[in-house]
Amino acid sequence: MDSEIQCDRLKLLEDRIRGSLEDVRKRKRCKWCQNPKVPVSSKGLCSSCYRWDRMQRKLSKEVEGLPARTIRDPHWKLRHELDVANCAIELCKGDGDTLETQLDQTDPADIEEEFQILAAKMLGPRRGAPLFQGTAHFFYDFSPTQRVWLWYLLSMIVSEASRRDRISTARSVNLRNKHSKIGGG
Ligand SMILES: [Zn+2]
Repeated sequence: MDSEIQCDRLKLLEDRIRGSLEDVRKRKRCKWCQNPKVPVSSKGLCSSCYRWDRMQRKLSKEVEGLPARTIRDPHWKLRHELDVANCAIELCKGDGDTLETQLDQTDPADIEEEFQILAAKMLGPRRGAPLFQGTAHFFYDFSPTQRVWLWYLLSMIVSEASRRDRISTARSVNLRNKHSKIGGG
């Protein structure tokens, strides 16, 4: 009898989670970052992505009107800002792609990774990320639906932090890309 009650409760929990995920999937989301928690403008973008879009278009226009690049480029700063804006937009879209994929299916390793990202954001990569290394096996006992839900809850915190840090992340990714181009790798 006890196990029957437990089974019923688990089924109820599963149904409720499935319903909540269905709500998330159906919600109108930003077409770039897919964040389901923020309002979306008539252009289909949230306020953060919209700001990047506007900035990128403005900088693009300014860079288009510049003379060709010279060795001592006096306009390097403007070109650099455009690179950063392009990079930030790629990051926004990347967040959106990740959410789309994970809402379909979340593997135990994906949850471990999300815990690592969250810990790294709070404690710094050196202290934070190793805290959850090798914990994926905890999540094999969760059902596929529960795994998606757990990942989604964690991602809400991570994506808010990513929006906040977008400019500094874009700057460092842009710098890394430049270095790898110079290094030929
Ligand atoms: Zn967005």
